[in-house]
Amino acid sequence: MPIATINPATGQALRTFDALTEAELEEKLARADETFRAYRHTSFADRARWLSRAAEILDAEKGELARTMTTEMGKTLASAVAEVEKCAAACRYYVQNGERFLADQPVRTDAKRSLVRFQPLGPVLAVMPWNFPLWQVFRFAAPALMAGNVGLLKHASNVPQCALAIEDVFRRAGFPDGAFQTLLIGSDGVQAVLDDPRVKAATLTGSTPAGSSVAERAGKRLKKTVLELGGSDPFVVLPSADLDAAAKTAAKARCINNGQSCIAAKRFIVHERVADEFQRLFVRAMEGLKVGDPMEDGTDIGPLATASIRDEVDEQVRKSVAAGARVLTGGGKMEGPGFYYRPTILADIPESAPAYREEVFGPVALLFRVPSLEAAIELANDSDFGLGSSVWTRDEGERARFEEGVEAGMVFVNAMVASDPRLPFGGVKQSGYGRELGEFGIREFVNVKTVYEADAGGADGAKAE
Ligand code: NAP
Repeated sequence: MPIATINPATGQALRTFDALTEAELEEKLARADETFRAYRHTSFADRARWLSRAAEILDAEKGELARTMTTEMGKTLASAVAEVEKCAAACRYYVQNGERFLADQPVRTDAKRSLVRFQPLGPVLAVMPWNFPLWQVFRFAAPALMAGNVGLLKHASNVPQCALAIEDVFRRAGFPDGAFQTLLIGSDGVQAVLDDPRVKAATLTGSTPAGSSVAERAGKRLKKTVLELGGSDPFVVLPSADLDAAAKTAAKARCINNGQSCIAAKRFIVHERVADEFQRLFVRAMEGLKVGDPMEDGTDIGPLATASIRDEVDEQVRKSVAAGARVLTGGGKMEGPGFYYRPTILADIPESAPAYREEVFGPVALLFRVPSLEAAIELANDSDFGLGSSVWTRDEGERARFEEGVEAGMVFVNAMVASDPRLPFGGVKQSGYGRELGEFGIREFVNVKTVYEADAGGADGAKAE
């Protein structure tokens, strides 16, 4: 895949970039390594000052940054502005809490003094996707930099200008040169970076095959990884739910980011007692969404990010229909330039249909009917993925059973799944491992060091290993 900006609203190639040469890459890795040696000794106060400044720059330049995102990957301008604001909020969250999360933790033992200390690991490679081009990077970078690590970003090849803009924000914010660098390399260049002994850990947000490939290589070198991968989140509607609210949120939760979010609700699992009414309201809500130019006010859904993503969604839908699925609305590409796809709902999806098992990364909802809560949980769990989940109910017992039984990293009740800097974010099963955000997020890329001090005369040693 070339490293290039192609406007998905028009299909026009706007700018291409050369990948780093071997010598340029070597220079950046050397700089990361050298910077880390000094950066790890900077104070939390300095790091917090630079991160606060990064938040100020984001707020001041949100319009321009948002336009770059929309131009490169097609999200609506309004959602792009909100994304920049969220990045600033995440920076501020770690400014306020980072030092506290990483403070020494005394532990009472038979020692004179024993404690846990959190120390940075070194340069961390972040392989990131295009769908939230700023947010995915900041939710890694803010805690990593606050913890004293340095960052190396390999961003998706279709968002190079976002990647360069992020490096620029951190540099202008005052972080030492080399604390956060963008590597313009293709995915075929990732293994060499993982092999480099100066790179100590890696995180990947993206598809399951990409995550597996990075984990395999990093595993060979025994390097820590965090993986935030795909999802096919269930959205379960039970008879006691507020159906109006559920249907409106369902359309939003499916079509957020033009349908290209890992935590978008993808499988709508509805109790048969309310299925007809929910279906009517859901179809109406999906048909009410305005598809169009993402730069224009009032647009709900812009184009998909690339021609190949749109073609893949189209193929999944066509094959699913051939397998027996029924189209309730939408179901095809839109005419004209740009990579637009109609908001679509499929029903009666057989297990043999690609849409039943695969993640569909576009505005395509899958509607299922079930006879009971137990059947809903069983269907929700009949997936290789386990990222987010949402349940709609006013019944306490149902809520408790769903929270307990669903195989997912996150459960939202009467709400759509969303990330929040204060809460850990991540999945189970093929959706990955490790957590970002919150206190758990900042603890992923640290050495959890045990310190034990006996009386000067010595202790009798550990009784067992
Ligand atoms: P992708 O193809 O996996 O790409 C993600 C990143 O990985 C890009 O930088 C890509 O580089 C790189 N990459 C691809 N194959 C690689 C390989 N074999 N080795 C090393 N790096 C590789 O994913 P995408 O299509 O951009 O993004 C959509 C996927 O991301 C969906 O599955 C979505 O659910 C998932 N996602 C998950 C989360 C989460 O937090 N769980 C959040 C957002 C998205 P190139 O661009 O150069 O190919």
